[in-house]
Amino acid sequence: MQRARIIKSTGSWYMAELTNGTVVACRVKGKFRQKNIRSTNPVAVGDWVGIDGAEGEWVINTIEERSNYIVRKSVNLSHESHIIASNLDLAIVVATMKDPVTFPAFIDRFCTAAEIFHIPVAVVFNKIDLLNEEERALLDNFMDVYKTLGYESVACSSVTNEGISDVERLLKNKVSLFSGHSGVGKSSLINCIDSGLDLRTGVVSSAHRTGQHTTTFAEMHKLSIGGYIVDTPGIRGFGMIDVTKEELAGYFPEMRKLLPECKFYNCMHMNEPGCAVKKALQEGLIAPTRYNSYVGMYENNNEETFRT
Ligand code: GDP
Ligand code: ZN
Repeated sequence: MQRARIIKSTGSWYMAELTNGTVVACRVKGKFRQKNIRSTNPVAVGDWVGIDGAEGEWVINTIEERSNYIVRKSVNLSHESHIIASNLDLAIVVATMKDPVTFPAFIDRFCTAAEIFHIPVAVVFNKIDLLNEEERALLDNFMDVYKTLGYESVACSSVTNEGISDVERLLKNKVSLFSGHSGVGKSSLINCIDSGLDLRTGVVSSAHRTGQHTTTFAEMHKLSIGGYIVDTPGIRGFGMIDVTKEELAGYFPEMRKLLPECKFYNCMHMNEPGCAVKKALQEGLIAPTRYNSYVGMYENNNEETFRT
């Protein structure tokens, strides 16, 4: 048996990269049962598997435990999930202060979802060539919010190349997901870093195919600097946040550590007396943008957002 990583899936067959770099096509034989998850696909892009093969007929026999994975609930309410990708080292959200504006709520929702999926987060602010001195100072302050949370945060421009080495440092030798609004410069950034990369959909596709019954299969693209970008066509952001409203604050790192200090064990940190989160907000220990994002997500109480 050989160890390999799944780099592409079509649903019926897979491309797996052996540890020596050779890529082989393989199939699944029999049934896999993963712990705690009913998924429509037994093997996902990013999975480390054990394969056996003779004369080009490679078969996946084992799957190693996943360190994390992103899932989509299937549309048919069968309670089955579709695993989009697994074993991600980093989830990057690309944001811009202008052209287009990326609102803090979008960045924070991404960070929260990544926390829920147990994926480390980085925030990349692109198009800094468009900022004047004052705007640049505002951005530096805003970036500090994320740095304080332990999230890597870098500023760059794919036009002037400023900060591109920092983006490379983030991506190097990691399996990364690249996300962000359309037009923030995801394709331009990837192109700056690896002009040979040919992504089908312009990185993490921002084309939102609503109401369509599309099954999406991710693909890992090798970077010349080392590492991989996971391309997830048709998927925007992380989709549903699979937690209850009560659990939400636990995925905001700056709130998580304060939760035991709230007077009420079931405090939602809205207007309850003795709330340690509100106190920290008033004392300037929690960024207002972060708290606002929490409230926005909390109040967005629909099935799309929360598990009920
Ligand atoms: P994507 O939709 O996120 O992949 O964004 P693109 O890479 O297609 O870029 C959208 C537009 O922004 C294009 O016109 C790019 O030329 C432009 N763009 C990308 N990066 C930068 C940047 O750093 N500065 C400026 N001024 N424009 C940029
Ligand atoms: Zn509270």
